[in-house]
Amino acid sequence: MTDTKREGGCLCGAVRYEVSWPPMMLVTCACTNCQKQSGAAASVVGAVARDALVLSGTLKTYEDRAASGNAVYRQFCPDCGSPILTDTKAAREGNMIFFKAGTLDDTADLAPTMHCWTASGQRWVHYPQGDIVMQRQEGLG
Ligand SMILES: [Zn+2]
Ligand SMILES: [Zn+2]
Repeated sequence: MTDTKREGGCLCGAVRYEVSWPPMMLVTCACTNCQKQSGAAASVVGAVARDALVLSGTLKTYEDRAASGNAVYRQFCPDCGSPILTDTKAAREGNMIFFKAGTLDDTADLAPTMHCWTASGQRWVHYPQGDIVMQRQEGLG
């Protein structure tokens, strides 16, 4: 780990990745599909330039649908099921890719400051004062 790159991977270790650091953005997403996929209250999602992601191992892709109807490609380790990447057409056009920041090797200093789809979030979750809280957010996955 350096201050310009971070490494992460799936639970079983078959999939590993490296991303540039800090990410372009770091958000939580509490959409119902992220809750389903993560089994958690929200996904913690980082965005990096596509060429700032180095991936090793093979991911399986589930083609999900956003509320907008657009395809959301949820990519996960086929052996242990850890969600690793989320890709969309808009992300491709913007030369970005989303990674699930909860799969970084070191998550202790993660501090997402934007929170999406809070309208479908779990009621026990409270957001830090000053953070950007969005009831909905199209296109994030
Ligand atoms: Zn795995
Ligand atoms: Zn989501």
